[in-house]
Amino acid sequence: MQSAAESPVRSTGHRSDSAGVLLRTLLRQGPSPRSTLARLSGLSPASVTGHSASLIMRGLVTELPEAVARTGMGRPHMPLGLNTRGALVGGVHIAVEETTVALLDLRGTIVAEQTVPHPGTDPSAILRTAADALTDLMAAHTPGVRPLGVGVATGGWVDRDSGIVVEHPMLGWHDVAAARLLAGLLDGLDVHLDSHIRALVRAEQLFGRLDTRHSVLALFVGNVVDAAYAVGEHAIRGPRSGAGDVAHWHVAGSDWACVCGQTGCLQATLSERRLVADALGTGVIRDPSFDELVAVAEAGNTAAREMFRERAAIAGRALGPLVDFLNPDTVLIVEPGVARFDEASAALRTALDECSAVVRGRRPSVVVSSFMHSPLAVAAGTVALDVLYSDPLAVQPGKKAA
Ligand SMILES: [Zn+2]
Repeated sequence: MQSAAESPVRSTGHRSDSAGVLLRTLLRQGPSPRSTLARLSGLSPASVTGHSASLIMRGLVTELPEAVARTGMGRPHMPLGLNTRGALVGGVHIAVEETTVALLDLRGTIVAEQTVPHPGTDPSAILRTAADALTDLMAAHTPGVRPLGVGVATGGWVDRDSGIVVEHPMLGWHDVAAARLLAGLLDGLDVHLDSHIRALVRAEQLFGRLDTRHSVLALFVGNVVDAAYAVGEHAIRGPRSGAGDVAHWHVAGSDWACVCGQTGCLQATLSERRLVADALGTGVIRDPSFDELVAVAEAGNTAAREMFRERAAIAGRALGPLVDFLNPDTVLIVEPGVARFDEASAALRTALDECSAVVRGRRPSVVVSSFMHSPLAVAAGTVALDVLYSDPLAVQPGKKAA
């Protein structure tokens, strides 16, 4: 697989698309003179000059005088760079039991992050807690800096275009206008919503290891289980962004009760809650904490390791038919056991081999998310960063960050 840095960024000719191409070229290439950016992006020198001015005016790009290299008698080549100090986005990830709020710079790097427990399951109360936590985080870490936007990510059925969480059965949410509600609590900031697994695919393309020319099948395994499939930069969404629902696929031999009323669903079988309940019941952990289960497994506890191995094997078996149907270049996994433990990683690959006809002949590369240190914060921030990199001219000059 080629690195993202080798992938060219090409414009379709629209003004804001060209500005997005310039910004994404700068992200991939790092600080560069305008002439280099024109060559790499395929934009004309005049277009690069014009868009550079627009992006500088919006606080997204800065000129880097300290890196001036004089060439002979002419005007110095003053490189451009992303404004990674003054330009920020906010992120809000809503999980089943807690909310993660974060601030990220234009490279997708987390500047600050905080987790707050949910005050129940009422959407208004959860979103108010999230807004308060994000406001406090901004005041503590970046006082005086107005974020360029806020991304909200969660699991379940999430409609990006309307900003609505259509179904999140584990939270009991139905048709919650999360983006609009949160914007109302955040002083009119632009708020965008998307599924956390689609956001993590995009994060991998913008800031991680995926090449946008390739297709990717992604699986998120946490308390919820969600999938995504993207061809190039475009995630397959379907009507109201309903694609990617694998939560209620049946797992042979499982009889764990699911919130949908059935038993043996993939999500119920793999969820953190189920693993924690299991581990408490068998004395592997003492407190009802998934973090403790991971820590115990990292310390070498055989029973805990076995739980993660089995979880990975079930995930691999579920992925098999999807790999057959879609034949992706890459399978992206967001699951802590596969990221940490060799036997879990091997179990996933073996199960994929056994349950897919295609894998034997055309094996996709299986990669673990680059953001396992903080996948939820990165997912949330990337929802806003994706909008910014797609259409940077939508940022109003008066709303520049610093
Ligand atoms: Zn179910």
